[in-house]
Amino acid sequence: MKNPELLRNACLINGEWLAATGATLDIRNPATGEAVGSVPGFGAAETRRAIDAAHAAFHPWRAKTAAERAKILRRWFELMMENQEDLARLMTQEQGKPLAEARGEIAYAASFIEWFAEEARRIYGDVIPSPLADRRLIVLKQPVGVCAAITPWNFPAAMITRKVAPALAAGCTMVVKPAEQTPLSALALAWLGQQAGLPPGVLNVVTGEPVAIGGELTSNPKVLKLSFTGSTEIGRLLMGQCAPTIKKMSLELGGNAPFIVFDDADLDAAVAGAMLSKYRNTGQTCVCTNRFLVQEGVHDAFAQRLAAAVAGLKVGYGLEEGVTQGPLIDGAGLAKVEELLADALAKGARVLCGGKRHAKGGTFFEPTVLAGATPAMRLAREEIFGPVAPIFSFKDEADAIRMANDTEFGLAAYFFSRDIARAWRVGEALDYGMVGINSGMISNEVAPFGGVKQSGLGREGSKYGIEEYLEIKYLAMAGL
Ligand code: ADP
Repeated sequence: MKNPELLRNACLINGEWLAATGATLDIRNPATGEAVGSVPGFGAAETRRAIDAAHAAFHPWRAKTAAERAKILRRWFELMMENQEDLARLMTQEQGKPLAEARGEIAYAASFIEWFAEEARRIYGDVIPSPLADRRLIVLKQPVGVCAAITPWNFPAAMITRKVAPALAAGCTMVVKPAEQTPLSALALAWLGQQAGLPPGVLNVVTGEPVAIGGELTSNPKVLKLSFTGSTEIGRLLMGQCAPTIKKMSLELGGNAPFIVFDDADLDAAVAGAMLSKYRNTGQTCVCTNRFLVQEGVHDAFAQRLAAAVAGLKVGYGLEEGVTQGPLIDGAGLAKVEELLADALAKGARVLCGGKRHAKGGTFFEPTVLAGATPAMRLAREEIFGPVAPIFSFKDEADAIRMANDTEFGLAAYFFSRDIARAWRVGEALDYGMVGINSGMISNEVAPFGGVKQSGLGREGSKYGIEEYLEIKYLAMAGL
């Protein structure tokens, strides 16, 4: 590392770096099993301290002008980009994604800070024409207050900045609990935020025991909002825990993304889109394709071309040259992929390529393509979160829409077609928060990211993302 300060082994609470006093979390490289670092295994008491710090920091932070907050955020963005290479290498070591993807994530993560630094200055209210002559009706937007964030391991940097940047831009303060697999990226970002000039208590990061930290974040009445990205199961649990204190919530949960290829699609573009949407991060993103739905006329051609492209992927340690597929995050992730694959094979799926653990051992898995997938298989309903691409076939457009919407999830969907009328019809008919049309990659900081149905609540990124951290206040001025 060029900058060894980025490797932190302590938590940031009230502007101070607190080292472990008891338990620790030891971080292992999922590709090599080597130790990468160690962070405190904190619990409820430290979380309460962080919440108190965020509470004390809130009034001075919201009292700053938007331009003052924006200036600090802008500097934070610049520091992230100046340290992009170090941050990317650290991420590959703790998370496993190939270095090129890690570099991309750092730039993507930083882009949220840049974007919301700009948006901070554009938080407008309203003046409403009054129905009574002696009144003026005014709407103010004000920061929510102390917010909490619980984030996953698959995007160790971007899932943090996508929450922290709009919160801080709006004038909120925050306590972040990163995933136990990937806290080092979170702590490195927090250190850069501190260097950029974030005052003590504005951003706090607590690592450790999820149930204890989550319990405090969701029950403490000083926390007014929780933003969570992770599984639907844990989202549901946290929503229940937030109910007694009626916290505002943003939830980015699981998906079951369909990727529809119509007979009129450009097949080369569809295969390129499929590779991006399925195999990025070794299939471990919530917007990764879970089901390929391919129209009968192009089914065989698409399956054969996809399998050929997949055979060209290079599996290995993400810091090695040319590697495009890292390991799965841990043994539990590997077990889930194997289980869903075994179930599909038992129910008649055929392996076109891959189909088993990789010879490299550990949690490496062969990039896999399956034909003959059916709705009876578990992978038609459950998130695979790994490099397995099941192909279903369908007859006509109505069939495809019905199959695509037959899930309790509604995060991302994709389809490929060159027919403009069909593009509108299908785009409007898919019950999803995001639809990629002739593209397998749709995320960026200016567009609203989020799901419908059991994939979540609220939107992140874009001009809508900052609204999640703002309250509306109505002032009625009478007697004029
Ligand atoms: P995944 O299965 O992909 O790891 P999770 O939903 O389990 O997804 O994890 C996402 C985040 O939620 C992580 O930061 C994890 O530590 C946290 N988490 C998991 N269980 C709980 C819990 N009971 N309370 C609070 N946070 C939790």
